[in-house]
Amino acid sequence: MLVSAKEMLNKARDGKYAVGQFNINNLEWTKAILLTAQEQNSPVILGVSEGAGKYMCGYKTVVGMVNGMLEELKITVPVALHLDHGSYDGAKACIEAGFSSVMFDGSHYPIEENIEKTKELVAECEKLGLSIEAEVGSIGGEEDGVIGAGECADPNECKAIADLGVTMLAAGIGNIHGKYPENWAGLSFETLAAVKEKVGDMPLVLHGGTGIPEDMIKKAISLGVAKINVNTECQLAFQEATRKYIEEGKDKQGKGFDPRKLLAPGFEAIKETVKEKMELFGSIGKA
Ligand SMILES: [Zn+2]
Repeated sequence: MLVSAKEMLNKARDGKYAVGQFNINNLEWTKAILLTAQEQNSPVILGVSEGAGKYMCGYKTVVGMVNGMLEELKITVPVALHLDHGSYDGAKACIEAGFSSVMFDGSHYPIEENIEKTKELVAECEKLGLSIEAEVGSIGGEEDGVIGAGECADPNECKAIADLGVTMLAAGIGNIHGKYPENWAGLSFETLAAVKEKVGDMPLVLHGGTGIPEDMIKKAISLGVAKINVNTECQLAFQEATRKYIEEGKDKQGKGFDPRKLLAPGFEAIKETVKEKMELFGSIGKA
């Protein structure tokens, strides 16, 4: 059964580790992440962007697939199904479809409007026992066509949003989505510490987990980050393994064209990436 992310994140915050959010794109992705979480006895959050939701034929299809897998694969570790960077309408649709967690990204609105909309969704999630993530200060890079510059959040605005009763808060601290550029300035731990001081116990979320150096990840966790989003890294691992399979001509040997064989190296590569991240985040054995 899907669970809210609240308990797993509070435990992570108290235990000084982070739970990984791994974004899903299809059946192979979802199965790879769920099996790895179970094997490593780790809590996990499955992230679904609005674009990926559409690609997978809508939120109801996603909920049906994930719930089916939890049962058929006998997954017993805590799993939350979470909308990533949701719009107001997207969040409502996911709540309706059976997600156990949503993110409302109102970071591109003026702060008053972000507060107003977040507040409404907090009330709705509270009624149903779902967790909700809010965002202050846009995260750089591109997410479903929305490009942010990687700004640093205003700690006072973070407090205003945290006080609405959200479960977790994503604050921009110079992190960006996708691959990091060579001249990236690194995470702003000054901002992170200032935000933490204002929001107290609120678990913080670090987006754009691909390519942040390990020591920065560990420092961020020590400063209150309890959820780290990983998306691009699984895509790159899948791409590389699939490319290798084709380049070695394995698709032309025997029944190598069988999609279950063709997609297997990519599937294994995702599993390996997820395991590495869980090790780095410290969530192994914490289910
Ligand atoms: Zn993000």
